[in-house]
Amino acid sequence: MIRRKLTKQIKVGDMKIGEGAPISVQSMVKSRGRGSSLTKQIIKEIHKLEELGCDLIRIAVPDFESARQIKQIKCEIKIPLIADIHYNYKLAIEAVKQGADKIRINPGNIGGKAKVKEVVRCLKDYGVSMRVGVNSGSLESDLVKKYGKSTAPALAESIFRWVKIIENFDFDFDQMVLSVKSSDPCITIDAYRLVSKEVDYPLHLGVTAASGGMSGTIRSAVGIGTLLAEGIGDTIRVSLTGDSKEEVKLGNEILRSLDLRDEAIQVIACPTCGRCEIDVESLVQEIEEKLNSVGAAPTGESLRIAVMGCIVNGPGEARDADFGVTGSRNKGIIFKKGKIIKKVAKNKIVEILLEEIKAQNT
Ligand code: SF4
Repeated sequence: MIRRKLTKQIKVGDMKIGEGAPISVQSMVKSRGRGSSLTKQIIKEIHKLEELGCDLIRIAVPDFESARQIKQIKCEIKIPLIADIHYNYKLAIEAVKQGADKIRINPGNIGGKAKVKEVVRCLKDYGVSMRVGVNSGSLESDLVKKYGKSTAPALAESIFRWVKIIENFDFDFDQMVLSVKSSDPCITIDAYRLVSKEVDYPLHLGVTAASGGMSGTIRSAVGIGTLLAEGIGDTIRVSLTGDSKEEVKLGNEILRSLDLRDEAIQVIACPTCGRCEIDVESLVQEIEEKLNSVGAAPTGESLRIAVMGCIVNGPGEARDADFGVTGSRNKGIIFKKGKIIKKVAKNKIVEILLEEIKAQNT
């Protein structure tokens, strides 16, 4: 059982981050283009991410046209929206006025303390929260000079510096979540450990520019997963080159693997071997897709479903699972806590499994 560090709580729209609130999964919109067709595309992308269990969504706000899209996007989506701002503090203020629930800035590139102060004053007035995100690619030059490169202590020093500056403004603002991302998972892990030791603000975890495919997946899972296992982290974003849907799926999977996602449906599967008599890979895929779409998990509880390749060892090896499926050459088997409850046609395995799960929930 992971004991999470108790951090302060901040609000992003209706969602809470920190102080024991469920760890949220974020992603970033990747649709590109301009004008009203882009707005529609963004809304469509967010709807797909919502279906997959994305809790918060961030969009890039590179100009005022993008900032003005926020109002319409907000009307059409259910999850809180975060505006990602670089270089121009006025964009942050416009994004807040258009209804952004949170903004993300890297204070080092906003143009100095006075401009950061303007942004924070606006956040305070509108009751909007902020992520202060430092990352290895945009560390202040004096820190690069001091440490030689973007090390974990350099990232931590940068974030401590900004936290102190913001805390010392002449108004009380504490709706902050912090991040210290590097593209190197080891530096990322060390930097977050340093920050977690010193401050109580909630932490947004991620490995920046993690790449795509297997290497991006593993770098993110190692970086984020290690910290979560130590009780560090309140919200996560997996940064993958490619489809944002993969970011959300992987984010949820990292949480599920550590038992940190409420209402989680966890599908486990055997690796298969020479005894295997069913197509384990396709069954896992079909079960995951259908369970997500029908929301078949018992409310508030996690549900573990095992897909095992053979009847000889499958039910016994997966006796800890709530439900399981396996098969022989001619038939499919549904089992519950290791005990066979039904023998079915092979092409009915998923259908009958879902019926059994739903029957348990009603
Ligand atoms: S459950 Fe059966 S098929 Fe799967 S690994 Fe074990 S022995 Fe092999």
